[in-house]
Amino acid sequence: MTGIDELPVRDELRGKSPYGAPQLDVPVRLNTNENPYPLPEPLVERIAERVRDAARNLNRYPDRDAVQLRSELAKYLTTTGHHPLDARNVWAANGSNEVIQQLLQTFGGPGRTALGFEPSYSMHALIARGTGTGWISGPRGADFTIDLVAAERAIAEHRPDVVFITTPNNPTGNAVPPETVLALYEAAQAAKPSMVVVDEAYIEFSHGDSLLPLLEGRPHLVVSRTMSKAFGAAGLRLGYLAADPAVVDAVQLVRLPYHLSAVTQATALAALEHTDTLLGYVEQLKAERDRLVAELRAIGYEVTESDANFVQFGRFEDTQGAWRRILDNGVLVRDNGVPGWLRVTAGTPEENDAFLDAVRDLKKELD
Ligand code: PMP
Repeated sequence: MTGIDELPVRDELRGKSPYGAPQLDVPVRLNTNENPYPLPEPLVERIAERVRDAARNLNRYPDRDAVQLRSELAKYLTTTGHHPLDARNVWAANGSNEVIQQLLQTFGGPGRTALGFEPSYSMHALIARGTGTGWISGPRGADFTIDLVAAERAIAEHRPDVVFITTPNNPTGNAVPPETVLALYEAAQAAKPSMVVVDEAYIEFSHGDSLLPLLEGRPHLVVSRTMSKAFGAAGLRLGYLAADPAVVDAVQLVRLPYHLSAVTQATALAALEHTDTLLGYVEQLKAERDRLVAELRAIGYEVTESDANFVQFGRFEDTQGAWRRILDNGVLVRDNGVPGWLRVTAGTPEENDAFLDAVRDLKKELD
């Protein structure tokens, strides 16, 4: 057997591990922030219909610019984000991970750097590495909020080419106030100017509004979104961004031709036809998220304020041990490597009950 390190891989990949949330076959899986509700049957039927039509043309390449899909996504953003956008402002790719990769290929790359405030979504750093972009770990306070003074100092010192702001943040769950995002944008412009990418993967679950209105007059701001969470379509792989049309033109310099298959485009269009039903599930999940926060606190855990479809709770002396004990009770949660803290995704009421039983037992053992 040949090991990776015996291959002539790039130096920065040596000794590194791939993204690896465990995909274990356990009764209750609350570890990857998926939506627990399967797509409703009428939508499944509509997807089948649209995919059947697309299949008749699979001898041809798909619409390379996914114009119809981008236009429908723009309508969704305009209605829900209180800011008018059209297809020229929107770009779509296979998951927001690919959107982020295309942004880093365009605005990062060898000799350039990206900065994120950690702990945050680990793929920002991993995609930076994969695109040859240097990674700078920016600071977060002990309560996981962004300390503006420390953050502005980090931007001024490192002058990164790309700044990531994840709001609501993963894995901590808290949202970043719009005034902080604005101040960081200003700091990034003064330092370089750099691109500021606001990762709003979980925004539909937030108590607050999207930052889309901030795009007005800010050509270096990008908002990235996904259909993996609120739309309950993680298996679809559809992410998108909203920005100045110049940004959309720029990412087209690096995207692979025909990157978004006709099947993906057809499926996403079908899902967008059912936006209202899907957003109904979001309301249920927000209520379950709030219940998890309240019950975890009642049991005696510390909980970080959550605007997402997951909750960070702790604190544990032996985080790995706690993760394992919860798993032994048939519930898979996530250890994101934040010392003392675990993360649980809001599931169905029954799944959440199973989780709460498990952590109640665990608390008794620990006390
Ligand atoms: N951004 C954040 C903050 C995330 O947590 C995730 C998924 N866990 C993504 C982006 C990527 O999502 P996807 O590629 O499924 O759109």
